[in-house]
Amino acid sequence: MYRESRNAMYTLCTITVVSDSPIKAKKAIDAAYAEIKRLEALLNYYADDSEISAINRYAGKSPVKVHRETYELIRKAVRLADATDGSFNPAVGPLVKLWEAARKTPEHPLPSEEEISATLRLIDYSKIHINEGKYEIFLEEEGMEIDLGGIAKGYAADRAINTIKGSGIQSALVSIAGDIRGEGVRNGNKPWIVGIQNPRSTGGESPQADHIISTIALTDAAVSTSGDYERFFFKEGRRYHHIIDPRTGYPTTSRLISVSVVGSEGVTADGISTGVFVLGPERGIALLESLRLGGILVDEDKNVYLTESLRGVIHMLQDEYRIMEHDPS
Ligand code: AMP
Ligand code: MG
Repeated sequence: MYRESRNAMYTLCTITVVSDSPIKAKKAIDAAYAEIKRLEALLNYYADDSEISAINRYAGKSPVKVHRETYELIRKAVRLADATDGSFNPAVGPLVKLWEAARKTPEHPLPSEEEISATLRLIDYSKIHINEGKYEIFLEEEGMEIDLGGIAKGYAADRAINTIKGSGIQSALVSIAGDIRGEGVRNGNKPWIVGIQNPRSTGGESPQADHIISTIALTDAAVSTSGDYERFFFKEGRRYHHIIDPRTGYPTTSRLISVSVVGSEGVTADGISTGVFVLGPERGIALLESLRLGGILVDEDKNVYLTESLRGVIHMLQDEYRIMEHDPS
């Protein structure tokens, strides 16, 4: 088993592969990181020379021709938006930017109600025009911005696994922060075991530390977690985190603090976890059941809601988290 962590996509990635050859393992890991870097260059909202930035720059002006891959991913994002009733919204960029300014500079005031309502007019994802077959994307209004931050890491995990398999390795685990995909089995025919982070961990380094609330076994599957503890700031006793409710323009108040989604594809698990975070426990569980995805949803009272498929499979390692016997509805 060979493992290497590196920084990419603004976070810590860890890739583990199983191989009988250290040279083959090293090559596969290098190729997977090169793939992640390639996608970062294509999809990075923050880099002026990415294709996403080009689309955003020409909003309201003209369509932009992009690589087929960027085009397909935007199409996928729009389908996920439809599936989540717009809770996952790839056009949420202008709002993300508004809140980011307040998060990054402590003296920065919170966005005003006027700013929020003006910005809400720019996030209508039905105004993302996808020119079938021409690989062109056009944002109808000036000021609109696509942000694929809610699916890019899950997608990159998918592609990295694909790359590793292309190098002739059948067994690997790729984690890009909370977006993880496990392929094949570990040594001894065991599934990959992944921890679900404790959204209210008290920290500490002791072996009894409360870093994870549960573990999940992954064989040819992906798990993505969205949490309010990932990127946030406190102001006047309130937590402002990085997932925005596209209906209100404010960070979500769905009562959920962590959502993990299990599925066969990283890109879907990633987008849906962001969407379910916005939808809340009732609508979130219903959506996951209809899409046949697994879900572990934690609310602010540390109540845990599981999809049917994970009942009896997922157990809590921390006493204060309680698995609810019934659906939230
Ligand atoms: P994740 O950690 O996968 O849940 O993605 C969160 C990131 O997606 C944020 O940092 C934003 O860039 C973006 N984002 C925030 N709110 C939404 C939303 N409602 N729909 C889609 N993307 C969002
Ligand atoms: Mg996501």
